Amino acid sequence: SRSSASLFKVSKEQALRNARQLYEKERADQKSHIHMIVIGHVDAGKSTLMGHLLYDTGNVSQRVMHKHEQESKKLGKQSFMYAWVLDETGEERARGITMDVGQSRIETKTKIVTLLDAPGHKDFIPNMISGATQADVALLVVDATRGEFESGFELGGQTREHAILVRSLGVNQLGVIINKLDTVGWSQERFTEIVTKLKSFLKQAGFKESDVSFTPCSGLTGENLTKNAQESALTSWYSGPHLLDVIENFKIPERAIDRPLRMSVSDIYKGTGSGFCISGRVETGVLCLNDKVLVGASREQAQVKSLTMNEFPQTSVFAGDQVSVTLPALDINNVTVGCIISDPQTPIPVTTRFQARIIVFNVKVPITMGFPVLLHHQSLIEPAVVCKLTALIHKSTGEVVKKKPRCLGNNSCALVELETSRPICIERYADFKELGRVMLRVAGVTIAAGMVTKIR
Ligand code: GDP
Repeated sequence: SRSSASLFKVSKEQALRNARQLYEKERADQKSHIHMIVIGHVDAGKSTLMGHLLYDTGNVSQRVMHKHEQESKKLGKQSFMYAWVLDETGEERARGITMDVGQSRIETKTKIVTLLDAPGHKDFIPNMISGATQADVALLVVDATRGEFESGFELGGQTREHAILVRSLGVNQLGVIINKLDTVGWSQERFTEIVTKLKSFLKQAGFKESDVSFTPCSGLTGENLTKNAQESALTSWYSGPHLLDVIENFKIPERAIDRPLRMSVSDIYKGTGSGFCISGRVETGVLCLNDKVLVGASREQAQVKSLTMNEFPQTSVFAGDQVSVTLPALDINNVTVGCIISDPQTPIPVTTRFQARIIVFNVKVPITMGFPVLLHHQSLIEPAVVCKLTALIHKSTGEVVKKKPRCLGNNSCALVELETSRPICIERYADFKELGRVMLRVAGVTIAAGMVTKIR
């Protein structure tokens, strides 16, 4: 039998080996997926850089690029032609599924990279957070222009804020792009000056030196994006990787296929015949045809009657796959968007109260005890209350700064307890990275994001 449920009866080790073998047999020839977010101060050149990269990697047609070139010329804004590539993708996306963060894809030799682009607007932190909760790796773009790096890096600038935020959401690999180096004549001195400042800051923010790289670029001229440096002013001192290499060199986060099954439900519809068709993402583990699973907080048991991916029938699907599943004879009240389908042998915790380590943004009124929020967890949106302010903690070191604070203002980092009125499925970040990140929103604005640290 290929059912993982029956495999688990064999022995756990055997089952895990089987899962991995099955995966390797079916997927070995395929490219790995990685989600990348691009962060940095407004005007650092993020859109230009990514637009140019998409173009150079053949992900934007000549025709579309020509159109942007013509239009930007007409408006006398030719320097924006690459940035528009991303805007268009964003708009096209917006017409389909609503998405705060525009998505594009880049294929490298070994990877399919989904760009979670964070458009460079002032109010983009709330948008960026939803991208960051899905990110595996990040590119931090800084503007090398004299004065510009400094204003982005000073207090109030977004360089620090973004770096701390992605780190708090568990992103540990960071490619720092020292951009617009054309504006300083490709000065090595300027490059080194910026690298030195960022290195010590990033270390404090909790990044390991070996997980951070620094790359000189110009998103506008295209220097060092997909080809080795050409500019003699740059080649005289730099022969390291270009941007595409940096992306190619990111370590692939392990597909957690040898963990217990967790599938997050993003849509439910009436299938043909009895029962329901449920679509979502397998976050961890393997799901096979005929497997028994537990659905949502009620933990009702159901059996997988059909399994499809991109409309093609499958016998098994794996962590990272976006799939549709038919579960017959299921009580519709027990399955909701945002709930989690889990392995009967190791079910997901169900709770109404948990502790999270959060970082606070954009609050008009400081967060106090009893503060109502909308909790976002994967596709789940659930009313919740901040029921305890346990401690204020240091953003970078995680040390407790103050126990039982009375309120939490912008830019604070804290341990809090959250309570929902209905039970929800949730995991600790330490146990299941995929299911341990949360966001708190109020009136459509993200005010905090963080990781689940304890489940009551
Ligand atoms: P974002 O806000 O970070 O997305 O930045 P944009 O991509 O919109 O770029 C902001 C401005 O910087 C635009 O006028 C760009 O043309 C300009 N720019 C972007 N990259 C470069 C670069 O590498 N060199 C120079 N000189 N200008 C750039």
